[in-house]
Amino acid sequence: VRIAVGGIIQESNTFTPGLMDLAGFRENYLLLGDDVFQMRGVHEVGGMLAVLEDAGHEIVPLLATHAIAGTRVTAETEQWFRRELVSRIEAARPDGVVIALMGAMASETDDDCDGTFLGDIREILGPDRPLIASLDMHAHVTDRMVEAADALIGYKTCPHVDIFETGELAARLLVRTLAGEIRPRTALARRPMVPPPQTHYTTGGGPMDPVMESGRQLQEVGQVLDISVFPPQPWLDVPDLGFKVVAVSDGDMDQAHRAAEQVAETAWRERRRFFAVEVLSPERAIDRALGAPEGPVVLMDCCDNPGGGSPGDSVSVLRALMQRPVTHATYVTVRDAPAVAHCIEAGVGRDVTVQVGHTLTPELGSPISVTGRVRRVSDGVVEYHGNLVYGGSGGRGRGGPQPMARTVLGRTVLLQVGSISLVLIEQRGQHFDPELYRSLGLQPERARMIAVKSSSPYGYVAVTPHIYYVDGAGYTPPHLARLPFRRVTRPLLPFDSM
Ligand SMILES: [Zn+2]
Repeated sequence: VRIAVGGIIQESNTFTPGLMDLAGFRENYLLLGDDVFQMRGVHEVGGMLAVLEDAGHEIVPLLATHAIAGTRVTAETEQWFRRELVSRIEAARPDGVVIALMGAMASETDDDCDGTFLGDIREILGPDRPLIASLDMHAHVTDRMVEAADALIGYKTCPHVDIFETGELAARLLVRTLAGEIRPRTALARRPMVPPPQTHYTTGGGPMDPVMESGRQLQEVGQVLDISVFPPQPWLDVPDLGFKVVAVSDGDMDQAHRAAEQVAETAWRERRRFFAVEVLSPERAIDRALGAPEGPVVLMDCCDNPGGGSPGDSVSVLRALMQRPVTHATYVTVRDAPAVAHCIEAGVGRDVTVQVGHTLTPELGSPISVTGRVRRVSDGVVEYHGNLVYGGSGGRGRGGPQPMARTVLGRTVLLQVGSISLVLIEQRGQHFDPELYRSLGLQPERARMIAVKSSSPYGYVAVTPHIYYVDGAGYTPPHLARLPFRRVTRPLLPFDSM
């Protein structure tokens, strides 16, 4: 049996100005053909390879790429991916295809690139050869995607710690389908709400608990093969955005529909809790942190989350810190390529005065002037060693190096501004792990305040229980009404009351 494997992962934020081209993917990784085998051990594609290699199937590697969340992609980039997929699959004539998609990629001419990719693949495969896709929990699942694929399998955890396992599951279902053991039937249910990412967590205590539990119960009693819940990434101004549930049954479409509706209804009943998020002004958050009996306190600068496509260059939190008598160790990260260049030119050990912030988003605010000493310069490569919760196999995949479990922030400078350790970075990149600060010799456990540009605390939960969500400039606000949504299908929570 010959099975084609690939992955194209990009989360678009349609509010962030600009367009991403192929360079935005290459910045992280873009692997073609046999290079896809470098993914062994990591991410969905690594999980897929593990299952297919164990089963002894012939693998046709297509391509694997993953860009950090960003803007819409160019039409040319989408076309390039389509041509690559189509030509490689046509040439290989596989018996089935398993592919990892984010599920929320939009181009300048297409609100649903993932649906387009799946439609293209279906056209080549015809109705009988199976196609299964894995998706991020934050996918914007569309009817086109459901119609094109035999099954869609999403992550079950947020923060996403089951990425590898999701790839394994998708590949296993494909293998079973090809063996004639199962006939996946996939149904989609929707509810008109887009909750902020702060309530998507599945680590306990939130509104996702009963939703995931209802899905697990249906699976346990054998009603369905799989249930996935998709509170989408919310900064996507496209029709049909909303809370989706996908159920995959064995051969019974009605059963899949019933199961998806049942889980979606559980989510709908929790809708009040899905929107209950406390967001503090930076001033209020800092005052509360300074008055807290113990630290560290994480100031989640969630409105400017690079993981959600915001550029990461706002200085709302830094500005508020500079206006206060902060004498405790405080860590802040801001993306500012010109400031990085200026500091590197001055050199380690030198004092500099630089303008910081809003080089990419002048429409959102103005820079502030800071004076400090250049303490350190690095290449900005942050590696997540053993604890590969961001896509690694946790040791269960095949051995070998795991080069994808890292973040590349570009040239990075540690500028000491009084008690504030200001980390200046060049590139987009997730800020979700304290390893970012450790890689510069800092000790997050000893800081009083740590500003983190992310929607959820991820690796910081191991550092402290004190997490405050902070308001500020950026394209990933929890309060969606802050952004000019125009094209979403109404009525929709939180824009309309229901
Ligand atoms: Zn996600």
